[in-house]
Amino acid sequence: MEAYRAGTLSTLRALTIAPVVGDHDRDAWIERASEVTLRRLADEVAWALDVRDAAPSPTAVAPPTHGAPLVVPSRQMRAPLDEELTAEIVVRGPATVVALLRAAVAAFHPPLTPAWTGLVDLLEHVKAEWERLPRHRDPIFARDGWRCAVPACGSRRNLHDHHVIFRSRGGNNARTNRVTLCAGHHLHGIHEGWVRASGKAPAGMWWELGVRSDGPSLLRLVGDRYEDESLALDCSKSRQ
Ligand SMILES: [Zn+2]
Ligand SMILES: [Zn+2]
Repeated sequence: MEAYRAGTLSTLRALTIAPVVGDHDRDAWIERASEVTLRRLADEVAWALDVRDAAPSPTAVAPPTHGAPLVVPSRQMRAPLDEELTAEIVVRGPATVVALLRAAVAAFHPPLTPAWTGLVDLLEHVKAEWERLPRHRDPIFARDGWRCAVPACGSRRNLHDHHVIFRSRGGNNARTNRVTLCAGHHLHGIHEGWVRASGKAPAGMWWELGVRSDGPSLLRLVGDRYEDESLALDCSKSRQ
């Protein structure tokens, strides 16, 4: 891609958008790749691929609206069952676990359907059961996709519910004042002062990374979008 050769896109960003860069929408995707965090970019590409799969005939998909929730089309809209198989799922584990998984997949796929539909149904069943448990129904974590909201982090482990305006400073319990953070970003980043979060969650969050007492923060973002795109490119080149 020219933008990659010209050095305006990092290798990782160029690779990330490769699956969706057709003849149409090429420029829009290249532009988008320079505007948002790699995390959001990967999410947007995954969304575009889902939308494309759901379409009755091959179509190019333009980047979504900035900051818009990425709604994945429902399964009913996906391609028919007799499509050519293009992916293989390999499961490695103790023989007993693999045997159990096979039996479970078999139990979930109705006669005359391909075996993979059993796996999809099994996974959807597991997800529904998981979300049915009260302790897995946290509205803040669910809204933030069960991952740290700090741009370019996305950790799914040890999540904390942080008050954007600290409770000690009068911050309330409204959902707009609460955001999902991983333990590291919460305890070391925010509460030790090198990450600053402000604004309203989820869409109106401002992030400052690398907060310094003797100068401006190294990086400022609105949601997953860099405030200064040239800064973003320098940063993504050195970091990725
Ligand atoms: Zn906190
Ligand atoms: Zn984090």
